[in-house]
Amino acid sequence: MSKRDYYEVLGVDKNAGEAELKKAYRKLAMKYHPDRNKGDDKAEIKFKEASEAYEVLRDPQKRQRYDQFGHSGMNGGGFGGASDFTNADFEDIFSRFSDIFGGDIFGGGGRRQSRSRRGTGRPGSDMKLRVELTLEEIAEGVEKTLKVKKQVKCDSCNGTGAETESDFETCSTCNGVGEVRQVSRTMFGQFVNVQPCPSCSGEGQIIKNKCSDCGGEGRKRSEENIKVNIPSGVSKGNYITLRRQGNAGVRGGEPGDLIVLIEEKEHENFERDGNDIYYDLHLSIPDAILGTEVQVPTLKGKAKVKVEPGTQPGKLLRMRERGIKGLNNSGTGDQFIKVHVYVPKDLTDEERKHVEALRGEQHFDPSDAEEREKGFFSKIKDVFS
Ligand SMILES: [Zn+2]
Ligand SMILES: [Zn+2]
Repeated sequence: MSKRDYYEVLGVDKNAGEAELKKAYRKLAMKYHPDRNKGDDKAEIKFKEASEAYEVLRDPQKRQRYDQFGHSGMNGGGFGGASDFTNADFEDIFSRFSDIFGGDIFGGGGRRQSRSRRGTGRPGSDMKLRVELTLEEIAEGVEKTLKVKKQVKCDSCNGTGAETESDFETCSTCNGVGEVRQVSRTMFGQFVNVQPCPSCSGEGQIIKNKCSDCGGEGRKRSEENIKVNIPSGVSKGNYITLRRQGNAGVRGGEPGDLIVLIEEKEHENFERDGNDIYYDLHLSIPDAILGTEVQVPTLKGKAKVKVEPGTQPGKLLRMRERGIKGLNNSGTGDQFIKVHVYVPKDLTDEERKHVEALRGEQHFDPSDAEEREKGFFSKIKDVFS
């Protein structure tokens, strides 16, 4: 199958700049995004075609080669040609273009860009930390201080890894450039393959006297208190990415991210359903019949609730907006009270006498209850406004 011209695919002209390419690709990627076109093969092909075109044209070197030689200039040859996206995973495409697809639920921006190796040490790794929240904390949002054991920059050498400034020596293998070049000739011309220098790992410098505190790493293990603001309405499985708060990099390398995973503590009184919470209320038979006023727990202390005479088991009472404040101001949930009526099992003789007396009474006969209740009760009753 012959490939379409990359500029044509993206619908831009040959002089299109970086921003224009990005805009064009973003538009196509959103249009043919697999999440919006489930099972549509044509959309998948379009999506991958656009991704491949963007991958080449956003890279100045690849673009130049493409402009010069067309598609035939992109096929392998040991100089990092175009990736063939026909069989690529969507995940793989998303991670390559994380600046377009990235970002966690709180819109913390795209995933980290690929880091430059030259002149700096290895980047630090990302960390994951679980934080367990109570329903009360989730309902209103909370600021948490997390104790994090991690690699931090070494203070003694300010992260450089050397005892003193003068302990740095320019790497003789790469002359301080940090990379080595191999030139190869092919039928398309001369190409340069660039790799990080093996002697200095791409740092361009060698340390004569390593910092005695960190052994030349420029970082060491320590514990830090890190504050994180958790918005209301989060739920288990949500995460918050704190940029550059993960492990420090080696010798000044970029720090990793700290990913805070949300867990929910079980609540002794409530069950959660989205932004609503449910509470089980157990009434005695006389209270259900005669009505009463009860105290119920809420996420903000106790509240009084009126129970109407004749309240049926299974009834739901609603306390409006006593639930959880939704994520991103999506509204506040309600507290529901599920009514149960407690039926005693063991009775004294005296109690038995009372109940026996009720047995034959007119209003205790359930046979026409259905008729009486029709239209009378709705399943949910608001007790708060
Ligand atoms: Zn040090
Ligand atoms: Zn070197």
